[in-house]
Amino acid sequence: MFPAQFDYYKASSVSEALDLMEEHADEDPEIIAGGHSLLPTMKSGLASPGALIDVSGIDSISGIETDGDETTVGAMTNYVDVVNSSDLAENVAVFPATVEQIGDVQVRNRGTIGGNLAHADPASDLPAAALAADATIVVEGRDGEREVPVDDFFLGMYATDVGEDELLTGIRLPNAPEIGGAYAKKPSPSSGYAMVGVAAALGVDGDEVTSARVAANGVMDHGVRLEPVEDALVGGSTDEDSLADAADHAGDDLDEMLMMDDVQASAEFRAHLLSVYTKRALGAAVERANGGGAAAD
Ligand SMILES: Cc1cc2nc3c(=O)[nH]c(=O)nc-3n(C[C@H](O)[C@H](O)[C@H](O)COP(=O)(O)OP(=O)(O)OC[C@H]3O[C@@H](n4cnc5c(N)ncnc54)[C@H](O)[C@@H]3O)c2cc1C
Repeated sequence: MFPAQFDYYKASSVSEALDLMEEHADEDPEIIAGGHSLLPTMKSGLASPGALIDVSGIDSISGIETDGDETTVGAMTNYVDVVNSSDLAENVAVFPATVEQIGDVQVRNRGTIGGNLAHADPASDLPAAALAADATIVVEGRDGEREVPVDDFFLGMYATDVGEDELLTGIRLPNAPEIGGAYAKKPSPSSGYAMVGVAAALGVDGDEVTSARVAANGVMDHGVRLEPVEDALVGGSTDEDSLADAADHAGDDLDEMLMMDDVQASAEFRAHLLSVYTKRALGAAVERANGGGAAAD
């Protein structure tokens, strides 16, 4: 299908993008970044913005920068740059480990970190990585910049804390080179999106788990932390049985009645996949924390 007619504007700065959003507010404007989620919804008639404001060329919100404490990833950074970033691989391992499993080469060359998080598709891969990495999301509007802890960012299906007159400009990730990060994903056979995906960021000392942030995509209407798994892990052993026991708690806080249930997988099957993929992510994260490079699959 062809999308309905729209006007197109290209912003060269954040303030110009905010101006354009205000100026065209009566045309139901949409920000366009990589376009990989927005354009399909426009072509299928699910979205018909009267104006598109292209932010993909705003250099000030593109790129990866590391200082002592944190790594900042600009909203317009393409996935490919995350995958190739040695700073992220060293300091926030769960992030590139997740992003390398998004889509295919074309999607990773074009899709953006900001677009993925702002779109908040329940089957996207990035929300769990952002939750596991304890990210801070940076949002800018007419009143200036504000920072949103990732735990407060995802509000529901395709719903986030970004206001209609705001732009997601970047994310800040705490540097934690000692943390092992991994992502285990059951991709949809048709789309490649996450039927279930689990991101794990674990601190390990000898054979003890010292810290844990674990989160899942594809199970509920938005990415969720798996806190019962984290609680079961911390202070426990890194042996396979202990990780499997912790993974069995993955669904404890999740209401199966509210789990995603569609042609791809029933809620019951997703609940089963959740503990299987949680266990895989935990095993791979422990291996990475111990200096190994196992991929979780
Ligand atoms: C074939 C295919 C396979 C895919 N596979 C996967 C996959 O396996 N895993 C996965 O996670 N994703 C997958 N995707 C989605 C892809 O990752 C998209 O790139 C991503 O969801 C959206 O990023 P974008 O930059 O393309 O955003 P766009 O499509 O341009 O925008 C998406 C939405 O976010 C809003 N938006 C964008 N940027 C901002 C901003 N800075 N501030 C505020 N709002 C903003 C837009 O207004 C729009 O509503 C796939 C897409 C395709 C086409």
